[in-house]
Amino acid sequence: MPSFVITEKCDGCKAQDKTACQYICPHDLMTLNREKMKAYNQEPEQCWECFNCVKICPQQAIEVRGYSDFVPLGSSTIPLRGTDSIMWTIKFRNGVLKRFKFPIRTTAEGSVDPYAGKPAPDFSTIKKPGYFTGPARSE
Ligand code: SF4
Ligand code: SF4
Repeated sequence: MPSFVITEKCDGCKAQDKTACQYICPHDLMTLNREKMKAYNQEPEQCWECFNCVKICPQQAIEVRGYSDFVPLGSSTIPLRGTDSIMWTIKFRNGVLKRFKFPIRTTAEGSVDPYAGKPAPDFSTIKKPGYFTGPARSE
């Protein structure tokens, strides 16, 4: 079920140009009501339920309700991000709480160089099939 904002918790990312949830949503669904300084999902039926906005929100103000085939209806799934781990708090509808902590990275934050060791792009080959990181291509 699509994401929704718990308005009491949302602070509009303190009026920055772009909120964290707007920045992260791969489908550009999150938007900010600048009068109320509250974010909302402007097109819930398009939501992929990817949890990106849930994970990035610094106020833990966004929830996605899981489907009943993997979590009980009425439960909630709230992440808390750290710099090297993420803690998921699962609250069951009978009030039982379970927490799961997972490491999220093996390198220091901001240190990843995604193109390290890769050749510089060659735009003369842009219309040829294949990927620039793939095996060398013949003509
Ligand atoms: S990321 Fe969270 S606090 Fe920031 S605008 Fe979105 S819902 Fe509100
Ligand atoms: S769950 Fe994913 S697709 Fe849905 S609003 Fe959040 S970031 Fe966008």
